Amino acid sequence: MSKPAVEKRYTLSERVYLVEILKGLVLTWRHFMFNFRASFRPGPHTVPTCWQYPEDRREISPVFRGEHMLCLDEQGRELCVGCGMCAKTCPAQCITVKMAKVAEGEEGRYAGKTYSQGFNIDLLRCIFCGFCEEACPKGAIVLGQGYELARYTPGECQLGKERLLANFRKAKEEGKLKPKKRPVPVAGEAAKEAGAEEKGAKAKGTGPAPAKKSSPPKS
Ligand code: SF4
Ligand code: SF4
Repeated sequence: MSKPAVEKRYTLSERVYLVEILKGLVLTWRHFMFNFRASFRPGPHTVPTCWQYPEDRREISPVFRGEHMLCLDEQGRELCVGCGMCAKTCPAQCITVKMAKVAEGEEGRYAGKTYSQGFNIDLLRCIFCGFCEEACPKGAIVLGQGYELARYTPGECQLGKERLLANFRKAKEEGKLKPKKRPVPVAGEAAKEAGAEEKGAKAKGTGPAPAKKSSPPKS
C-alpha cells in the first residue's frame, strides 16, 4: 500500500521564491568579496582557498617521502656501498643493486671499499614506504621532497644511479636535504655498552665501591 502524500504548506515568501533567490545571491556575493579582498594580501598564495600551482608551491614537511636520492658525503664521495640491504628490505622489490669493489685509484669517488656499480629503482612499483631508507646502514638512500612524479613513458620511471645522484645534488643546491637522523640505540647494544663502561671503570678503580657484607649483630 502506498503512503499518503504529505501536503506541505509553503509560506508566501517560499511560494514567490524571490527571498530565497536573494538569500543565495547574498551568500555568493559574500564569498566573492572575501576572495577578492584576499587576492590583495601579500604572500606566496593570494586566494586563500586555492594554491596557484605551479607558481605557488606548498612547503613540504622534512619527513615527506618523495622521489629517492643517493647521497654523497662532505667530500663528494658516494656513500652507497652496494650492500643490497635496501633491495632485500623493499616490499615492492623495485630496487636492483650491483655491487663492485672499488678499483685502485678510484678511492676518492667512493666512501667505502665497495660501491654500487648499478643501481635502479622502478618508480612504477615503489609504494614510498621508506623501508629502504630505514634499512640502509650508510644513510645513502633517502626519500626526498620531490613529489612531481608524473612521467610520459614507463622508461622514465626507472631511476638509474645518475638520476638518483642528480636528485641529491639538486636537493643540496635548493637546501632541501633532510636533517640527518639520530641513531636509534638498540636495546641489547645499549646494555652491552653500559656493561663495558662499568667493567672499564672497575678496572681503573674509579667505579662505585662494592657493597660491604654486613656482619650479624653480636649478642
Ligand atoms: S620506498 Fe619502499 S617500496 Fe619504494 S623503493 Fe623504498 S622500500 Fe621499496
Ligand atoms: S643504498 Fe644503502 S642499503 Fe642500498 S645498497 Fe647502498 S649502502 Fe646498501
